[in-house]
Amino acid sequence: MPADLPERLLHYIGGEHVASADGATFEVLDPTSNETYLHAAAGQAADVDRAVAAAQRAFDEGPWPRMLPRERSRVLHRVADIVESRDARLAELESFDSGLPITQALGQARRAAENFRFFADLVVAQTDDAFKVPGRQLNYVNRKPIGVAGLITPWNTPFMLESWKLGPALATGNTVVLKPAEFTPLSASLWAGIFEEAGVPAGVFNLVHGLGEEAGDALVKHPGVPLISFTGESRTGQLIFANAAPHLKGLSMELGGKSPAVVFADADLDAAIDATIFGVFSLNGERCTAGSRILVQRGIYDEFVERFAAQATRVVVGPPHDERTEVGALVHPEHYAKVMGYIEVGRTEARLVAGGGCPDGFPTGNYVAPTVFVDVPADARIFQEEIFGPVVAITPFDTDDEALALANGVRYGLAAYIWTNDLTRAHTFAQAVESGMVWLNSNNVRDLRTPFGGVKASGLGHEGGYRSVDFYTHQQAVHISL
Ligand code: NAD
Repeated sequence: MPADLPERLLHYIGGEHVASADGATFEVLDPTSNETYLHAAAGQAADVDRAVAAAQRAFDEGPWPRMLPRERSRVLHRVADIVESRDARLAELESFDSGLPITQALGQARRAAENFRFFADLVVAQTDDAFKVPGRQLNYVNRKPIGVAGLITPWNTPFMLESWKLGPALATGNTVVLKPAEFTPLSASLWAGIFEEAGVPAGVFNLVHGLGEEAGDALVKHPGVPLISFTGESRTGQLIFANAAPHLKGLSMELGGKSPAVVFADADLDAAIDATIFGVFSLNGERCTAGSRILVQRGIYDEFVERFAAQATRVVVGPPHDERTEVGALVHPEHYAKVMGYIEVGRTEARLVAGGGCPDGFPTGNYVAPTVFVDVPADARIFQEEIFGPVVAITPFDTDDEALALANGVRYGLAAYIWTNDLTRAHTFAQAVESGMVWLNSNNVRDLRTPFGGVKASGLGHEGGYRSVDFYTHQQAVHISL
C-alpha cells in the first residue's frame, strides 16, 4: 500500500476542500483485495449546485477568462511541470487505485503532463479567420470561452483522461466542474493541490466526487452548465444525451469500442502479433481503443492462432505495483464479474485457447488471465459486445470484402488496426472501415493534433487539436460594411 494514503476524499469547491452537504460518502476499494481503503464524499445535487455557482463566479468575476492566452498558457505549463515532477507518485497512486500495472500508469501520468503542454501551446498559436470582400466588407471571428464546462470521466486511465478534458477546457478560458469516476477517485483528488501550486485562481477548477446517477446526473441536468464533455460507456452516453437535450447543451461524447485488428496474409507477422497482444492486453484490456476482435486471413490463421495463444500465456499477470507486471487487477469486483461472465458466455460460443479465468496464485483481487477465444462467429456476443478486459475474439476471413464486412459488422466504430504490406489495400481498407481512427501497421501511436473520436455507437464529435478548442469556445462572426 502506498505511504500517506488519505482516509477520506472531499470535494474541492471554490478553492476549499468540503464534505457533501448531507455528509454522504461512498466506499473505494483496493482492486487487489476488494477491501475498502477510503471513503469519498458522495456528491448530490446540492454539492453540484455549489460547485457550479463557484465556477460561474470565477467565470463572471475572476481573471481566468480575461487573461491573455499567453498568461493562461504559462500557468498551464506550470501544471505540466508539476505533474511531470510527481509522475512516480501519481503512477503509484493510480496503479493502487485502478489496478493498472505501475509501468503503464507511469506512461499515463506523463501523457497527462503532455496534454496540458499541448493545449497551453495551442491557444497561444491559435489564429482565427478573417474574410474580406474587397472594398465592401470585413468579417472576422471572435472566439470566446463558453462558461462552466461539465467534465465527466471514466475509471480506465482516470488521471490522463481527466487531463484530456481539463487541458483544453481551461486553456480556452472556461471554468470547470469535474466529476471523476467513482471506482477511481484517488488521483483526481491531486488536481486541487497541483492547480493551486501552479497559480490557477480559486473557483476555476472544481471537483465533485460521487456516483454517476447522483453527482453526474445533477451536473448533466444543471441549467448553469452549457457544455458536457463525457467519456464512458455508450449506454451512459445515450442517457446523458437525453438528459442534456432539454437544455440544448453542447456535447462531446467519447464512448465504447469493439475495435478490429485485421491481419492480412502478407503482413509482417512478428510485428502484428506483438502489436495485437499489446493492443488488447495492455492497460488490463480496459482500453477504449483495444483491438478486441482480431480478424486473420485464412492462409496464416492457424499459425497466427498458435503463436498468439502461446504469447498470451507468457503475458505476466501480477500485482499492479510490481514493475514486471503486464496485466494487473481489474478495477472493481463489479467489473470483474462482468468480464468473468463474458468468459463463461465465450466458452459456449467459441473455442478457448488461452486463459479463461483467474490464474492460479491469486486468492483475492480481480485478476484475469489473458484470455483468447478463436473461431468466433460474427453473431457471438463476445464478438459484438464490449468486454473491456483482457479477452480477445479471433475470427478467420478469406477475402478483403469479407474482412471489411466483419470489421464493420458491430455497433461500434472507434478504432481499427490494419496489418498488410500492400499499400493500396491498406489505404483502401482504411477508407472503407467504419471507425473514427485507423492505425496502419502501427499500434496506437497518438498525435495530439489529430481528431480523436468515434463513429456509430462510439461517439459524437471529435476532440484533439483545434477540434477541442472549437468545442470549448463560441465562435462569433463579426460583420462590418466598409
Ligand atoms: P461509465 O459510462 O459507467 O461511467 C463514466 C462516467 O460517467 C463516470 O464518472 C460515471 O460516474 C458517470 N455516469 C454514470 N452514469 C451517469 C449518468 N446517468 N449521468 C451522468 N454521469 C454518469 O463508463 P466506465 O465504466 O467508467 O468507463 C468505461 C467505458 O468508457 C468503456 O465503454 C470505454 O470504452 C469508454 N471509454 C471511451 C473512451 C473514448 O475516448 N472513446 C476512453 C476511455 C473509456
